This record gives sequence, structure tokens and C-alpha cells, in this order.
Amino acid sequence: MSTLLAFEDALEEITRSASVLVEQQTIPLINAVGRTLANNVVARISVPPYDNSAMDGYALACQDWQDGKRFTVSQRVAAGQHPQPLMPGTCARIFTGANIPSGADTVVMQENTELEGDKVIFTKQPTSSDNIRPLGQDMQIGQTVVKVGEKITPIHIGLLSSLGITEVIVYKQLNVGILTTGDELIPTGEKLKEGQIYNSNGPMLSALVAQAGHNVSHCLHTADTPEDTKTALKTLMQSCDVILSSGGVSVGEEDHVKDALEKLGKVHLWKIAIKPGKPLVHATLQGIPFLGLPGNPSSTLVTYHWFARLLLSICAGQVAELPKSYPVDAGFNRNKVIQRDEFLRVSIGKDGLAYAHPQQSSGALLAACESQGYLHVKANTQIEYGHSYSFYPFSSF
Ligand code: AMP
Ligand code: MG
Repeated sequence: MSTLLAFEDALEEITRSASVLVEQQTIPLINAVGRTLANNVVARISVPPYDNSAMDGYALACQDWQDGKRFTVSQRVAAGQHPQPLMPGTCARIFTGANIPSGADTVVMQENTELEGDKVIFTKQPTSSDNIRPLGQDMQIGQTVVKVGEKITPIHIGLLSSLGITEVIVYKQLNVGILTTGDELIPTGEKLKEGQIYNSNGPMLSALVAQAGHNVSHCLHTADTPEDTKTALKTLMQSCDVILSSGGVSVGEEDHVKDALEKLGKVHLWKIAIKPGKPLVHATLQGIPFLGLPGNPSSTLVTYHWFARLLLSICAGQVAELPKSYPVDAGFNRNKVIQRDEFLRVSIGKDGLAYAHPQQSSGALLAACESQGYLHVKANTQIEYGHSYSFYPFSSF
């Protein structure tokens, strides 16, 4: 047990060694959802670019108001029009989004006015700046509005469009190679024979990598032989920025990944004190970062979520963010001390407590689908009812 690297140390070591591996490119903003910004975006205009009305109503100067005074409407300003300076002592009919005439400093919404012929009476004394959206209320010229490393969301598309931006500089997508291993595995679509199972980690990893915004450039499978494993790795090394594998990293005679890595590159760490996912291996193959994830599907998922996701995001130029957690009390007990940091698949009950899925086998994937996230129980602790632990919803990965 003493040879296992602590969870936090492994996380720190894997992320510390990673760096941006992709070049930059300019693309139309409209195609940029999910891409990573390669430079800060600075506002070249203020938004809104001029003071404008937040309401349909009347613009006037507060100082002109008197109780019962009948105001002449000296102009009409709709959105998109250029107003004249306000004639002193009068008001302007104004509509939402319209430019405030100079000389006016407040807008009274039309619901709070009385009409008398062609005159308007403002029943309540207005206050300066009421119902005016001032220039730069949203963004000021020169302000940094989106930072390098941020992933562009549909909200950013709207924000940057409001600045008149049509193109952004983003990082090119990271090319990720995926290698699955195992003589027992066959691709979906074929008929299972005795002793075979379907390769589920390949499709799952491809989906996880693609969902994170990277490009799955290769998805290979190798038989459990040293030669085939090395050949597959060499193929991936020719064209991938980062390589992930599943299976073949344990201590069995059929586990050839680690040996192949030692022949082709340098192994930095192997085996960490987590459950599931202990035999994770981290290596570099001629400068290409490599993470070998254990083959049990839940181990693959946990180690992807915690380690591969972060490694890929750093290599892709993204801001490396640890998943967000919040404290949740356990709704169950366990009578033995936990030896390795454990990531239990749990759901939150109506009482707000976390309940572990009854199936915690590292081979079982349905349990993860039926759960809402991980409860992180640290090594050398015991799970006690009512005690608080960090809960990480799957959506935070
Ligand atoms: P390994 O890490 O190669 O010892 O595999 C551990 C367990 O995970 C074994 O039961 C494998 O059959 C299973 N396994 C490995 N790779 C995959 C995969 N790609 N899809 C589904 N199960 C896998
Ligand atoms: Mg295997």
C-alpha cells in the first residue's frame, strides 16, 4: 500500500507536467461554440454604446418637474433614431432602446403619466437616471470581457456579437488518440462468442473526449501482446497530441501497456491510492503525454473524469478547472476504514443526504448511470452517517 501515490499528489504531478500543445487559428465567431479562446477579448466599444431608455415613456430633465405641471411633448424618439437636444422645460416621447436626448436625465414610464390633450403630467417626482441604461452599463470600452483559455459558450457568442465581433482566435482542437486493449473485447455490431465482451470503453472515451471539445483522431484496439501493443502505440505517436488507453495496466501477465511505455518512452507514475482506478499510469512518449486508464469501465470513467479530463484541457489551452463540489452529509455508514481515496457513485435523496448506489463494483457502469455524482471519501477515514463529504455532480466534470 505504501507504494501507491496519494490522489492529490498524482493530480498535481500529472497537471504540473502538462502544457499547451495546440496552435492557434482564427475562425468565424458563429462557429466557435465549444472552442477555446487563445487570447483575451477586449471590448473595442462600450455596450450599450449610448444612454438609452429602459422603458416606453417620456424623457425629461428632473429639475423641470413641478407638481401638476403640464409638459409639452417636443419630440418623439424611437429606437434607432437620433434625437435632438431636449428643448428646456419640455419632454420627449421615448421608446425602449431609444437614445436619450441630451438635456434629459430621467425617463418616466408611460404607466406613471397622465395625458391631458397633447400635454403630459408626471404624477410622481422623477429621480435622476431612472429607467436609463447608461452607456457602458454592460461592458466598457477597453474592458477584458472573455479571457484566454475560456471555452466559448452560446452566451459568449451573444456577448461578443454585441461588441460587433465576427471572428475569434481560438486554439486548434487537440488530437487525442485512444487505445483499447484486451483479447476478450470485440467491437459492437459483431456477435459475441464465448468469453468475449463488447468494447465499451472505446466508445465511452471517444464520447467523453469529444464532449470536452477535443478531436478523437484515432481509436485503435490492440490484442494483449507486447508487439501489438507497441505497434499500436507507435501508430498513435505519429499523429496524436495526447494518447489515452484503457486496460492492460494492471499487474497481470496479459497487461502489456506499462512495459510497452517503458520501451517507447518514460513512465512517470503508476498506481495511485484511489478506488476505483488504482493502476493508472502516466507516461510521456517522445514528448506526447500518455495516460493509461484501468480497463474496468467504472475505473476508466473515474480516472478519465479526474485525471484525463484535466490533462486534456491543459494540453488544449483551456483553463484547467478542478471539478466543483459541495458538502453533502452521508445517509449511510460503513464500518471499515477506507484505505484509498474512494469515489462512491451516489445520489442525493429527498432528505438532502447522499446515498451510495448498492453496486459499487468497478466493472459496473449502470450504477454510474443511475447515480448523480461522486462522493469523495478520503483515505484513512470511515464513512459515518450524518458526516459531511465532498459531492461532485457528474455535470461538474
Ligand atoms: P484490464 O485493466 O485490462 O485488466 O481490464 C480490467 C477489466 O476491464 C477486465 O474485466 C476487462 O475485460 C475489462 N475491460 C478492459 N477494457 C475494456 C473495454 N474497452 N471495454 C469494456 N471492458 C473492458
Ligand atoms: Mg486486459
